[in-house]
Amino acid sequence: MSVARVREIANRMKARGFRVVFEPGWERRGNGMSPAYTGDIVHHTATGFANSNLSILIHGRSDLPGPLCNFTTWADGTLGVIAAFPANHAGASGGRNTRPLPVTRSFNKYVLGNEIAYPGTEPMTDAQYHTATTLSAVINEVLGHKDDAHTKAHAETSVTGKWDPGRGNGVTYDMNAFRSIVRKAMHGNGRTPFGGSAAPKRSSLALLEDAAMELKPTPHGTISLGVPERGLSLQIQVAGAAGTPPPKLTIHRIAFMTGDGKKRPLKMTGPKTVPAGDPWQGDWLNAQPGETSVLIEYSFAGRGAKNHTATASFRRDY
Ligand SMILES: [Zn+2]
Repeated sequence: MSVARVREIANRMKARGFRVVFEPGWERRGNGMSPAYTGDIVHHTATGFANSNLSILIHGRSDLPGPLCNFTTWADGTLGVIAAFPANHAGASGGRNTRPLPVTRSFNKYVLGNEIAYPGTEPMTDAQYHTATTLSAVINEVLGHKDDAHTKAHAETSVTGKWDPGRGNGVTYDMNAFRSIVRKAMHGNGRTPFGGSAAPKRSSLALLEDAAMELKPTPHGTISLGVPERGLSLQIQVAGAAGTPPPKLTIHRIAFMTGDGKKRPLKMTGPKTVPAGDPWQGDWLNAQPGETSVLIEYSFAGRGAKNHTATASFRRDY
């Protein structure tokens, strides 16, 4: 379901601290193809750094109907969400480094496109590079990839001589360097979150507000929550209507992650049941310098889930 996937990608970017703007109609917009997303393509718009081409990305040009991308990245690093369904950005594939993506004339149905708003004849901003590499990492996570091989430059897949994303006139960015950053930005540095083959299955997530995330009432799930600033303390809370039986929320494992993929599992004596009401918090849940996200593996049981919410968030006063 492409709307849910694109929403999850956007929410994960928000959880990592990026500003995300949903362009109205994004969840219905597409070129008419049925999505079969398996990778992502990085582009430059060949315009200025201002996002004045937004209308063209949404509606297209006289020679090419819109949408022309799924995401766009602005000079300040803001991510724009343009279209949940396939867009006209990649043309046919088969260029010098297409694999493992398919070689096909109908390439757009397989790839999400990020149009980075800059000329290409000079480098993109640092903020754009940071957003673009993180977006590719998050796309790979949501598509279930364990490596960076499904992230490509348009220059690598094009059969018509495209050279984007450029860092100078006709000069494409070093995509192996780009992908090495993508790989490091993926949770667990390409490993399963907690190691081993019994890693929990991924749960979709909903973002309530910046730096707070709902633990969905699934029997068994994992969420990743971005650490918005240094030195914050994690808290987990179950809240809901008084007089109704709360669900049983059990925290199985917690691990803090650094930006380069190192994980620090917290030592727990066993699964921790979080009672309804008071938040579960403590000094031992503090993020340490350099840690940018936390992975929480949890389970839900009981019938009270629909009357209650469970949230993970960070507090400042520890
Ligand atoms: Zn392109």
